[in-house]
Amino acid sequence: MADIKQLPTREQVDSSLTWDLTPIYQDRQAFNQAFDQVAKQIEALPELQGKLARSSKDLVQVIDAMMAAIRPAEKLYVYASLKHDQDTTDADNQALSGRTQSLLTKLESNLAWFEPELLAVESKTLDQWIQTDSGLKPYEHYLRTITDEREHVLTPAAEKLLAQAGDALNASSNTFDVLNDADLEFPVVEDDDGGTVQLSQGIYDQLIQSTKPEVRQMAFKQLYAVYHQFRHTLAATLSGNVKTHNFEASVHHYQDARQAAMNANHIPESVFDSLVTSVNDHLPLLHRYVALRKQILKLPELHMYDLYTPITGEPKLSYTFDEAKAEALRALAVLGPDYLSHVQEAFDSRWIDVVENKGKRSGAYSSGMYDTAPYILLNWQDNLESLFTLVHEMGHSMHSYYTTHNQPYQYGDYSIFVAEIASTTNETLLTDYLLNKYDDKQVQAFVLNHYLDGFKGTVFRQTQFAEFEHFIHQQDAAGQPLTADYLSQYYLELNKKYYGKDVISDPEIADEWARIPHFYYNYYVYQYATGFAAANTLAQRINSGEPAKREAYLNYLKSGSSDYPINVMRKAGVDMTQTAYLDQAFAEFEKRLNQFETLAKTM
Ligand SMILES: [Zn+2]
Repeated sequence: MADIKQLPTREQVDSSLTWDLTPIYQDRQAFNQAFDQVAKQIEALPELQGKLARSSKDLVQVIDAMMAAIRPAEKLYVYASLKHDQDTTDADNQALSGRTQSLLTKLESNLAWFEPELLAVESKTLDQWIQTDSGLKPYEHYLRTITDEREHVLTPAAEKLLAQAGDALNASSNTFDVLNDADLEFPVVEDDDGGTVQLSQGIYDQLIQSTKPEVRQMAFKQLYAVYHQFRHTLAATLSGNVKTHNFEASVHHYQDARQAAMNANHIPESVFDSLVTSVNDHLPLLHRYVALRKQILKLPELHMYDLYTPITGEPKLSYTFDEAKAEALRALAVLGPDYLSHVQEAFDSRWIDVVENKGKRSGAYSSGMYDTAPYILLNWQDNLESLFTLVHEMGHSMHSYYTTHNQPYQYGDYSIFVAEIASTTNETLLTDYLLNKYDDKQVQAFVLNHYLDGFKGTVFRQTQFAEFEHFIHQQDAAGQPLTADYLSQYYLELNKKYYGKDVISDPEIADEWARIPHFYYNYYVYQYATGFAAANTLAQRINSGEPAKREAYLNYLKSGSSDYPINVMRKAGVDMTQTAYLDQAFAEFEKRLNQFETLAKTM
C-alpha cells in the first residue's frame, strides 16, 4: 500500500491559506443574532398570504417582504455550508449547518402559497399592473419567468397532491442512490504498486488511469461484474425514474419530458437537437483521436479501459500556489484590467480556502450569494491540473462578482446553463496561453492532450449520455419496457458508434448505463457539452483583442438572471440555437488534434 499522507488539522493550516469568513459574520454570536432575526421573519411569512391579488401595490409589498426574508436566509446558508465544508468532522459546524437547513425548509414551506396565488391573478390584470405601476418594473422579468409557466401549472389542489406524492415518485432515484453509494460491494483488486485494494467508485477512477494495462483491465472487469450482477434491479430503478419524468411532463401538459426539462430555463429544444446532430457529424474526429491514442500507447488492441490512461507521461510543469496565482493573472490578462483587479481582490481578501486539511470537503467549488464574496474551496496540489481548477473556479467567482455588483437582488444569480460557460472560458484561455508560452514539445503535448481529453469527456461523452437519455425517455413513452437487455443492447450500439472501429467495445461497457448517476438528473448533461463549445467561441472572441467583444463577454458576466439564458449568450456573441458555435468548437478540436499528431511523430 502507498504510505498514508498525514494531513494537517484545520487549526494547523496557516491562516493566510484559509478563507476569511468574518466579513459575512464577525463571529458565532453575530451569526446567532442574525439567525434569530431571520427565524422571526420566516415565522411571519404566512401573514402575507391572500394579499397579493388585491392591487399592484400589495403585490410589490408581498414580493419585497418575501425577498427581505429570503436574502438574509441565503446568507446564513452560505456561512453555515462554508463552515461545514472546511472541516466536516467539526461537531459545532455540523450543528450550525443542520439548524440552517431546517430553517430553509421552513422558509420554503412558508412560501408555498406564493406561486399558485400569483398565477391566480389573470394575465391581463398582471400585464396592466406591470405597465402602470413603476414599483413592479424591477420585477417584470422575475414575474414573467413564473407566469410563462402558467399553462403548465395545475390547480393549487392538484399541485399539492403531486407535491405530496413527491417522495413516492422519487423512490426509484433514491433506491439507485442507496444501492450505488452504500450497498454495492466491490471486490479486492490489484493496485498500481503491486499491492491490493478494495475497489470503490473513487479507487476505480484512479485505477482506470493506471499506466499498467493489467491494473486498469482488472479494475474495469471487476467493477462491471458487480453492476452486471444487479443489472435487472438497476434497469428497474432507471426505468422507474424515466416513468416519473414522463408522468410529470404529461400531467403538466408538456409534449414530453425533454420539453418539460428544457422549458424550465426557456432553452429551445433545437439546442439539444443541434448538439446531437453536430456531434454525430463529427464522430470521425473522435475516431481519429482514439486511433492516435492506440498508436502512442503502442497497444495491439485499444479497449474501453485504455481510454483514461495518460498518453504523454508526467507533465514537466509544477506550480506552488503563489506561482499559480501569478500564472493565472497572466493567462486571464486578455479579460482586461477590471477583471484582473477583481481576481487580485480574491487573492488579497482571502476568498480562497487553499490547502487540504483533515475533514475538509474534497474537490473544488465556488460558492457565495448576493451579500457575500464569491468564495472558492480548493484542495491544492502543486500541479497543472490544480492551476486549471483555480482558473475554472475563478471563472465562476468572477461571474458571481460581476452579477451581484450589477444586478438587483432578484436577478443576482444565474442558471446552470450559463454557469459552466464562464468557468470553461477561463480554462480555454489558460490552454491558449500555455500553448503560446511554451515551446517545449513535452509541455505542448501535455497541454494539447489535456485539452483533447477534456473535449472527449465533455463534448463527445456527455452528448453520448444525452442521446441515450433522450432515447430511453422516448421509448418508455412509446410503451417499450426498459429491460436490462434492451438498455444494454442499445448502449453497446451507441458506444460502438461513438468510439468507432479502433476501440474494442468490450461487452462490459454495455452495462455502463447502470452506474451513471447523471441518468437520474433529467436532461442535465447536455449542458456540459453546449457550455464547453460556447466557451470556445467566447475565448476566440476575447483573444481577438477587439474591445467590443471583450465588453460583450463582461456584459454576460454582469447579466445574472435578468434575461433568459439563451438571450444572455446571444448578446455575448454566441447564438446557441444555431450550429455555428459547434462547428467552431470542432474546428478547434481538429486543429489541435493535427498539432498533437504532428508532435507525436517527433516524440
Ligand atoms: Zn464549474
